[in-house]
Amino acid sequence: MADKYDVIIIGAGPGGMTAGLYAARANLKILVLDRGPYGGQMNNTDAIDNYPGFSEIKGPELSQKMYDTMMKFEPDYKYGNVQSVELDGEDKLVKTDDGDEYRAPIVIIATGSDHKHLNVPGEEEYSGKGVSYCAVCDAAFFKDEDVAVIGGGDSAIEEGIYLSQLAKSVTVIHRRDQLRAQPTLQKRAFANKKMHFIWNAQTEEILGDDMKVTGVKYRDKETGAEKEIPVAGVFIYVGVLPQTEPFKDLGILDDHGWIVTDDHMETKVPGIFALGDVRQKDLRQIANAVGEGSVAGQAAYNYYQDLQDKKN
Ligand code: NAP
Repeated sequence: MADKYDVIIIGAGPGGMTAGLYAARANLKILVLDRGPYGGQMNNTDAIDNYPGFSEIKGPELSQKMYDTMMKFEPDYKYGNVQSVELDGEDKLVKTDDGDEYRAPIVIIATGSDHKHLNVPGEEEYSGKGVSYCAVCDAAFFKDEDVAVIGGGDSAIEEGIYLSQLAKSVTVIHRRDQLRAQPTLQKRAFANKKMHFIWNAQTEEILGDDMKVTGVKYRDKETGAEKEIPVAGVFIYVGVLPQTEPFKDLGILDDHGWIVTDDHMETKVPGIFALGDVRQKDLRQIANAVGEGSVAGQAAYNYYQDLQDKKN
C-alpha cells in the first residue's frame, strides 16, 4: 500500500525546499523526495552573489541553510528517484525506481534542469577524463593546467571565473562574438588576466590521447578554418534541459519538455504544481525558484482546503 501524504514534493532544490517549508508550515503532511543531495544545482556552485541577504555565500552552505529551515517544520524527507506520476481519482500515485509508491492529492514538481551535451566526437569518450560539466567538482584536477570552457551564458562565465583561481589559463570558446552572460559576470571575466576568449568558434571535437583530453578542435566561423588549442580540461556549459521524463504522460509539457503552469504554479492537471527551473520561463535563478516555491506551497494549501470544504 502506498504511503499517503497531503503533498508530495519531487525535488529538493531551492524551489522545492521553499515549497516544503511553506506547505509544512501550513500543517500539511508533506513528503519531499530527491534522488540526490538536497540543494540541487546549488551544490555545484561555488559562490552565489545574487541571492538577497548574503553578499556572497557558498552554494552548499545555502543548501544546508534552506534544508535546516524547511526541516524545522518536520516534513518527511526521503531518497527517491521518481519514475512516474499517475492519476488515480483525486489522488496522484508517485512511483520510484526502487518500487516505492506514495499517494497524495497534491504533487509539486521541482526537478529542475540538467546540463546539455555538445554532442561532438570525444565528448562522451573523455567524460571524466578531462571533459566535465562541473567546475566546482573537478577544478582541483586542473591546477596550473590550461583549460577550455565551451559556452557564453551565465554558467560558462561564472564557472570560468571559478576555474581561473586554480587553472593556469581559461579559454572561453563561444559560437558568437558576444556573451549571453549577465553584464556583471562579463565585466569580471574580461578583467580577469587568466581568461581568454575565442569568438565565432564552433567546437567540433574534443581531442585526446586515448587516456585523457589533450585539446579542442574548433572551426573559425568567419574564415572556415579548422584550428586546435591544447588544453587538459574542457568544461561544457551550453545550456540546460528540463528534468521532466517521468511527467511526459501527464500532458503538462510544452514542445521542448518544460512544464507549463499558471501564475499559481498550477499545471492544467488539478493538484499538480511545478516551480523553479523545470518551468517554461525566461529567467532561471535561485531567487525566483524560491519565490515560486512560496507561491506553490501556499497554492497547495489553498487547493487542499478546497478539497476538504468539498468533502464537508
Ligand atoms: P544558457 O543561458 O542557455 O547559455 C548557454 C550558452 O551555450 C549560450 O551562450 C549559447 O550560445 C551556448 N550554446 C548553446 N548551444 C551550443 C552549442 N551547440 N554549441 C556551442 N555553444 C552553444 O545556459 P546556462 O549558462 O547553463 O544557464 C542556464 C540558466 O541558469 C540561465 O537562465 C541562466 O541565467 C541561469 N544561471 C544563472 C546564474 C546566476 O545568476 N549566477 C548562474 C548560472 C546559470 P548563444 O549565446 O549563442 O545562444
